[in-house]
Amino acid sequence: MTVIHSARLVTDAQVTENAWVQMTDAVVTATGIGDDWRRAAPDDDVVDAAGAWLTPGFIDIHGHGGGAAAYDDGREAVATAVAVHRAHGTTRSVLSLVTASVADLAQRAAMIAELTASDPLILGSHLEGPFLDVGHKGAHTADLLVAPTRDDIETLLSAADGSLRQITLAPELDGGLDAVRAFSDAGVRVAVGHTDADYETTLAAFDAGATLLTHAFNAMNGIHHRAPGPVIAALGRDDVTLEVINDGTHVHADVVRMLFGEAPGRIALITDAMAAAGAADGAYTLGGLDVTVRDGVARLDDGSETGGSIAGSTLLLDEALRRAVTDVRLPIEQAVDAVTGAPARALGLTELGSLRPGFAADAVLLSSEFDVLGVWADGNRLR
Ligand SMILES: [Zn+2]
Repeated sequence: MTVIHSARLVTDAQVTENAWVQMTDAVVTATGIGDDWRRAAPDDDVVDAAGAWLTPGFIDIHGHGGGAAAYDDGREAVATAVAVHRAHGTTRSVLSLVTASVADLAQRAAMIAELTASDPLILGSHLEGPFLDVGHKGAHTADLLVAPTRDDIETLLSAADGSLRQITLAPELDGGLDAVRAFSDAGVRVAVGHTDADYETTLAAFDAGATLLTHAFNAMNGIHHRAPGPVIAALGRDDVTLEVINDGTHVHADVVRMLFGEAPGRIALITDAMAAAGAADGAYTLGGLDVTVRDGVARLDDGSETGGSIAGSTLLLDEALRRAVTDVRLPIEQAVDAVTGAPARALGLTELGSLRPGFAADAVLLSSEFDVLGVWADGNRLR
């Protein structure tokens, strides 16, 4: 058993001063205020938080790697990358795969299916492609983008063997809405993204079962007063969660602030991290494309001095949370919800994203500057 006491507990969109949380094995078993933790568990492993923030473990529903390793590259690469994210408070990760051939994606999804079965901290895979719009390809290889077919959908679903959590697709492609229905019928969360969809097509995708918007504003049409586009479509739907890359580069802080105001409880901060997250600037590859990272900003190499499209991020979720408070100026309870409760709700993970009794023993201790002081996942102290 572990008891963390004298914490400023932030969970379920509330702040509780001088709080304690008791975790037994992999579950939160009790919480309280003040000194009565002493009665609750005399023999526990006791941690004095000394007034630090205590939050549920962070959940990243969209990331591609870290620590100079990418999830596309096999088991060892996954282990390297998730270790970096875990040290920064991300206790549960969906592993995103960049566009590849359907055969390669099937093989990688099968690899992640095995990891998901053996590691409770891995939530499954996210296919970002290959059913994406060429005109909004971002850092995906144009030649590999295709319209969805029944055969390809079956191949990917059966390779993932129930571990496919999420797929990003462009609903305006031929067969796009049928694909939304097929994946959501199979229990996969469908995200609209890397798309040329207008407002109406996006709403049609939500009606067909899509429940997420992949990195809002990035790789899609923006907001125009006569052409509201996918972001406005998503804001208007209570059943849709909007992913946001809050790294100060992908979306302006004031625009992020607007999203939180329009869709409280429905913003999930993601990293979309590529291999350079938690690693040095320099040359990398992302799904076979050459990328240069300068000052933490990853761009495709296009021969120009400044570089091409932004290619994923080097963000970690503790930094996304810090920026949500300092740059976006959100109350801490709202910022914490966007890396804990909101992503859990978006994926229907009813035992994650809160530190109430009965929830998973995933917790992060943070200084007032949002430096990670401690991480517990599934009841084990990781840092
Ligand atoms: Zn991505």
